[in-house]
Amino acid sequence: MKRRTFLTTTAGGAVATAAGLSAPAYATGKRRLKMVTTWPKKFPGLGTRAEEFAKDIETATDGRLRIKVYAGNELVPPLGAFDAVRGGKADIYHGSEYYWQGKHKAFSFFTAIPFGLTAMEQSQWLNYGGGQKLWDELSGKFNIKALVCTNSGVQMGGWFKKEINSIEDFKGLRIRIPGLGGEVLKRLGATPVTKAGGEIYLALSQGNIDASEWVGPWNDLAFGFHNITKYYYTSAFQEPGAAIAAGFNLDVWNSLSKADQAIIRAVAGDNYQKSLAEFNSRNAASLRALVDKHGVLLRTYSDEILIALARTSDEVMQEIATTDDLTKRIYNSYMDTRRAAMEWRAIADEPYLRSRHLYENYGKRL
Ligand code: CA
Repeated sequence: MKRRTFLTTTAGGAVATAAGLSAPAYATGKRRLKMVTTWPKKFPGLGTRAEEFAKDIETATDGRLRIKVYAGNELVPPLGAFDAVRGGKADIYHGSEYYWQGKHKAFSFFTAIPFGLTAMEQSQWLNYGGGQKLWDELSGKFNIKALVCTNSGVQMGGWFKKEINSIEDFKGLRIRIPGLGGEVLKRLGATPVTKAGGEIYLALSQGNIDASEWVGPWNDLAFGFHNITKYYYTSAFQEPGAAIAAGFNLDVWNSLSKADQAIIRAVAGDNYQKSLAEFNSRNAASLRALVDKHGVLLRTYSDEILIALARTSDEVMQEIATTDDLTKRIYNSYMDTRRAAMEWRAIADEPYLRSRHLYENYGKRL
């Protein structure tokens, strides 16, 4: 298996034996790899980031590793990316780990969970809280090695056709919200539906759904949801930051030199922070356009609603934690980092952000 995957992904195309390798390509160590993604072509921030990640690897390896990127449905359907890489049809996927929760429920922890870690805290967990080791154990079961390489930052709560003033307002609400956030709202009486990004606008405008979450101002403005309704809720309890992974076929990963593995890790880390900077920068500009030009009305959930969402989220997460021993260990490790991050941020970031608001509002010379 290891040998076959290596050979078929080596420059020169599919070959049956080592003797069939094209000699010049083998001598120079050039490899051509296929990356499948879960995104539409040029999808802002995610599809574009997959292309940039691939290009950066090619540049950093001086063309030794060349990666052809396939948008969703070009080689396999978006949600077929995992199996394509697992089975060796492709070498790398670029996508959200929570799309694979049907394979194993613990995958959600590596994208986002309700009331979970922010982008920088996710990095804290993976690098210094034991998260990457647990992820390797989980992905290894599926012959995959995964790394984070993108993060959307804090997402928005979504677009609603009516205001949500109490928990009662969720009852009967048809809302597009995938994954665990959907499960939480379902337990509070809503009817969550899963729809691909391209289907949301029509469903919302035709009244098939009453509300929808998507990503954040940058992506939401592009879809034009503000033309249907003005109520825009912040922020997303369900997605405090969607960490996106690059998942390598484990045989392909192991066949790379230690130097190339180190380069890929460095490029992935660089893209993680660049993507976050890009989302934050473009979201800020797009939100200004939504509010100033399009008259969008920003809303937040009341504390009463947030507490109900939190209690229900905790119920859902505790149930998931009982899936098996590995999930329990992942849950405990994740929560340890969350606790530590919350304690430190309450001392450091939160008071600092408050003091900066005071500067902005009152501290400037008139
Ligand atoms: Ca989302």
